[in-house]
Amino acid sequence: DVQISEDVTFDTMLLSPSTLEGLTNCGFYKPSPIQLHGIPLGKCGFDLLLEAKSGTGKTAVFTVIALEKLDLEKGVQTIILAPTREIAAQICDVISQIGSNLKTLNVEVVIGGLPLQEDIMKFKNKVHVVVGSPGRLRHLIQDNHIDVTAVRLLVLDEADKLMDGSFKADINYIFSVLPKEKQVIMSSATFPDLLKTVMGKYVQNAQHICPDSTTILLGIKQLVSSVKSNSNIVRQTQNRFDELLKILSKKNFKQCLIFCNYQVRVRDLYKMLLREKWPAEKLHSQQEQTDRLDALKMLQDYKCRILISTDLAARGIDASNVDLVINFEPPYEWQTYLHRIGRAGRFGSYGIAVTILSEGQEETKFKNLIKSINGSLDLKNF
Ligand code: ADP
Ligand code: MG
Repeated sequence: DVQISEDVTFDTMLLSPSTLEGLTNCGFYKPSPIQLHGIPLGKCGFDLLLEAKSGTGKTAVFTVIALEKLDLEKGVQTIILAPTREIAAQICDVISQIGSNLKTLNVEVVIGGLPLQEDIMKFKNKVHVVVGSPGRLRHLIQDNHIDVTAVRLLVLDEADKLMDGSFKADINYIFSVLPKEKQVIMSSATFPDLLKTVMGKYVQNAQHICPDSTTILLGIKQLVSSVKSNSNIVRQTQNRFDELLKILSKKNFKQCLIFCNYQVRVRDLYKMLLREKWPAEKLHSQQEQTDRLDALKMLQDYKCRILISTDLAARGIDASNVDLVINFEPPYEWQTYLHRIGRAGRFGSYGIAVTILSEGQEETKFKNLIKSINGSLDLKNF
């Protein structure tokens, strides 16, 4: 569960009435631990490393800090970077909701894959907060469509993902053109050691806030399901698929996310499930941007029960009714595993994660991966 301290509510945090009301409108009364510790320090202007399990409300931490600093008379003051377009859109929704009392507040999302011209037009009006993918943001800043002179807060959500290579040049560029005097907040469920060394050049005297020392997701029951291994990939996939059908029909679930390691598998599974009368949606990076956002919206609006995805949806996605995560194939890295299964059990709700493993090598490898996180993970067979 998300441990919530009984006697602390948001109104002990000296927030502005509009933010407080915004939080209440969202149904947020009591802060989660990361909110309890992160918001006051952030309001004081410290750089922050927010490290907390998936689904514990990290978005609201930087949202509140951004809103509390905001001067509606000025232009762009907060820039928020996110590794996927879906996460960026979601962050924008949270800011708009918590900031709904600020009538002139303007938050814009700028993400690659959608027409550049439309993004350019957004900055003809006054914009206060920009959320976006590093590439598109860089493009807009470089071509002078965004004036960054008033920026005082830079947020990197899913920071470890943002720092892992492909985004680095864009982030370095953005960092180099922002005013020196600014606050930096990095947020993620996982901060590998390597990241901590890379981060040094972006933050100063950062307060590292990690309220829960354990990486185990308490609200999520983790199961494995073994299938006969087969050197023929088609047969192997069929074995996994038969197991998947078994899980779907045996488990009582509200909504389910199925993760695959490859796009082609997402497409195959999508067809196979439809054939078996399990209506599903799919999400992967080769889809049109609008289709990607639609698929996610359908899940969040409860218009589809099953979403099949690559690791594109592994991070940050918040669909609070997802209570079953199935790894059609085990992920290669422990970070990915934690992010994937963290899609179930949002904000203390209960969920189940089942990983389908083929007997033998794959099984051993996966169990070692789990051991590397924490020996005491309770893995039961499905
Ligand atoms: P994280 O980024 O840490 O994975 P999110 O910021 O996406 O988590 O929040 C997870 C879920 O918890 C969201 O559905 C959000 O609405 C909800 N939530 C966040 N803070 C609170 C709170 N203080 N009270 C109730 N629900 C909350
Ligand atoms: Mg998040």
